[in-house]
Amino acid sequence: MIASANFTTSPSIEPADDSIPVLRGTVFPHPRGGLRIRVWCPNCSTHHTHGWDAEDAKAGKSHRTPHCERNRYTGGYYVAESEVVE
Ligand SMILES: [Zn+2]
Repeated sequence: MIASANFTTSPSIEPADDSIPVLRGTVFPHPRGGLRIRVWCPNCSTHHTHGWDAEDAKAGKSHRTPHCERNRYTGGYYVAESEVVE
């Protein structure tokens, strides 16, 4: 399930719910078009890559369904950019 991001005008990067972590990552252009965000996952100790777009950037963070094999983030997690690679 992919939750549609519909965060209002809050510029805050803080999680709305403390149980939902925010994983910060690097936004980069994908060879096949569009943008991706690569985040470090403390659950798996590995990187996960998710889609990313202008609306996500505008919102500052975006909710995702974790790519973890053993998912402890039952509420999902947010991804947010820490830097942008052109
Ligand atoms: Zn993970």
